[in-house]
Amino acid sequence: MGQFPAYRPRRLRQSPALRRLVSETQLNAAQLVLPLFVRGGRKVRRPIHAMPGVFQLSPDELLREAARAFQAGVPAVLLFGIPDRKDARASGAYAANGIVQQAVRLLKKELPQLLVITDVCLCEYMEHGHCGVVRQDQAGVKILNDPTLKLLARTAASHAEAGADMVAPSDMMDGRVRAIREQLDHTGFTDTPIMAYAAKFASAYYGPFREAAESTPKFGDRRSYQMDPANAAEALREVALDIQEGADIVMVKPALAYLDILYRVKTVFGYPTAAYAVSAEHAMIKAAAANGWIDERAVTLESLLAMRRAGADLIITYAAADAVRWLGDI
Ligand SMILES: [Zn+2]
Repeated sequence: MGQFPAYRPRRLRQSPALRRLVSETQLNAAQLVLPLFVRGGRKVRRPIHAMPGVFQLSPDELLREAARAFQAGVPAVLLFGIPDRKDARASGAYAANGIVQQAVRLLKKELPQLLVITDVCLCEYMEHGHCGVVRQDQAGVKILNDPTLKLLARTAASHAEAGADMVAPSDMMDGRVRAIREQLDHTGFTDTPIMAYAAKFASAYYGPFREAAESTPKFGDRRSYQMDPANAAEALREVALDIQEGADIVMVKPALAYLDILYRVKTVFGYPTAAYAVSAEHAMIKAAAANGWIDERAVTLESLLAMRRAGADLIITYAAADAVRWLGDI
């Protein structure tokens, strides 16, 4: 370590060119994934109350939105579906002509170079809004783990069948990555990667998303399957399990309040690691910017850079399309 006055860190901060030369972390458009919400109909662009700039889109509008983002430089989208009907078996999740399956076919046909990743979960398709099969009796409500695995595996395989480039299970059931990997392999999709929501916390930062995906649980909460925000060592065990079960990319969600988890996951496992900058992270920046309290562009790019610095290889963000535009302007 150098010492003052021989070592003066400010020497390398004197000009933009010098600062860029020694910059340790880069944020590139190639690392960003845009989440999109698709529902039935035509010419539907239903705004989401607490997520300015985010919409529920019918397939035709989804294609438009995805094409715009792709042309701007966003390489990948993550699809969430809102079905017309919900039931107790989440049958819309794995229907061959379900809303996500239709959307994947359309996007892959019209934009073959766009990477299409699908969220694999049951909550949007269940009448009760939970991510798994529910048993309700005098003892209370229980989210059943193993019966849920089959449905998740079927869902993932049907997305692959429709042409998805990657599947992303977000349910947090134990053993789901293995169940999905086996199903994909048995159905001929050995080359379809799995991006596992490996350390997904039961977070209040998901509030605005639940309106977007219409997936608010009708009773109870998700704390019996999503992780306790207090736990970091457990997050590492969750990630280890998903890697053992066949995850190709592991994700930490949310992002900004969980940078310590992101850092540990990347440092310990060295696996491709994703961060999901969730709905309330987006909403807080948008709301403060709308009040003129912060610079939206600067705060967004600094937040994304911080996720990269903490260890994220790729970032799922509602600001992906704006960010690629801003990165191009720099
Ligand atoms: Zn879910």
